[in-house]
Amino acid sequence: MLWVCLWFLWFALVGGAVSITYHRMLAHRAFRARPWFRYTLVVLAATAGPPIQWASNHRRHHRYVDQEGDPHSPIQDGFWWAHCGWYLGRREPWLCLLFALSGPFRLIIDPFLWPSLEAMERVPQDLGKDRGLVFLSQHSVHRGMILLHLLPVVGFCWALGWPGLLIAWASAVFFYNLGDGVNSFGHLYGERDPANAGEARDTWWLALLTFGEGWHGFHHAHPRSPRMGPFDFGWWAIWVFDRIGLIEARRPEQGQQGERQHA
Ligand SMILES: [Zn+2]
Ligand SMILES: [Zn+2]
Repeated sequence: MLWVCLWFLWFALVGGAVSITYHRMLAHRAFRARPWFRYTLVVLAATAGPPIQWASNHRRHHRYVDQEGDPHSPIQDGFWWAHCGWYLGRREPWLCLLFALSGPFRLIIDPFLWPSLEAMERVPQDLGKDRGLVFLSQHSVHRGMILLHLLPVVGFCWALGWPGLLIAWASAVFFYNLGDGVNSFGHLYGERDPANAGEARDTWWLALLTFGEGWHGFHHAHPRSPRMGPFDFGWWAIWVFDRIGLIEARRPEQGQQGERQHA
């Protein structure tokens, strides 16, 4: 039981770090963190991809949302492309489904699907001048961070044997698809925020399971707000980090103080 608790705690740390670090801090500059804390969070979030590449790709998603140029729009390119086909550059549903079911193997496959810094068309200036971030975005360094993430997977399976492998597989499939679901479901189902240029939507159940990321309609309407919605675990963590002096958060955008817009 202790192992299972530790396993889900690790998922929570990684999932929360992707939301608050890669998404809110790097892609949208919603807060600034002390360097040691920033890089620690980046190491925790590394399963999502190399930090600069991830943040640049996400900024592109906001710039061209649901139009030509959006790297993963279900409106432009269909569900499977937006869900996970865009990683592979392939549209065949069977291949996307296989990838979506690959679970812990995503840790090994995904790092090879991101471009190197040198191969990127343009590195955003604010990210490119952060030397620590540039270092962590090098393919070799990023793969080193992934090796660190493989340790808990191997340890868990080693400790629990076949049942451990089964739990690891099922939970990894579940959590990877939740993250990818923000790009696919998050632009197809739920309440659309009228202030939003694209088709992004608010989905309460997705928000509960993704540290607030499911408030995707509101997020597209207010991308620089550190808070995305009423039950936003990511924002709660940011609030605590802000209070104890580890980060300096922007004020949530006007209209986000209450829950009116999410009623
Ligand atoms: Zn979106
Ligand atoms: Zn965003």
